[in-house]
Amino acid sequence: MRKQAATRQSDVLEVLTRHDKPLTAYAILDQMKVEEPDLAAPTVYRALAALTDQGRAHKLESLKAFVACRCEHDSSVPVLAMCGNCGAVEEHDGTRLLSELSAIPKRTKFQPERYSVEIHGLCKDCAV
Ligand SMILES: [Zn+2]
Ligand SMILES: [Zn+2]
Repeated sequence: MRKQAATRQSDVLEVLTRHDKPLTAYAILDQMKVEEPDLAAPTVYRALAALTDQGRAHKLESLKAFVACRCEHDSSVPVLAMCGNCGAVEEHDGTRLLSELSAIPKRTKFQPERYSVEIHGLCKDCAV
């Protein structure tokens, strides 16, 4: 039986929520295959795209990996701080950046669809 898209999305989100660290689509697929051996990669990709569009998950573009959203926001800017040592990701609310960020691509009439800001460094445990 094929599952509904909404059910798929909550399955994928549940896998992400169980993990502190970002997961690639294939890592998510591997976990879900434990229960559903014939699950195909495009199904997971579609669910991830929908979750990202809805702001329920965020893509770390530089890692090609995903994290569950950990703050409440509608149209704000997730600021994802990634530890280069242990791989932990913290999410901060970047709402205050939105007006400045959205002004930047106006010069070239670029149409932004979503924003995300990545900060690379060390988390407080690794920085000591
Ligand atoms: Zn978020
Ligand atoms: Zn760390």
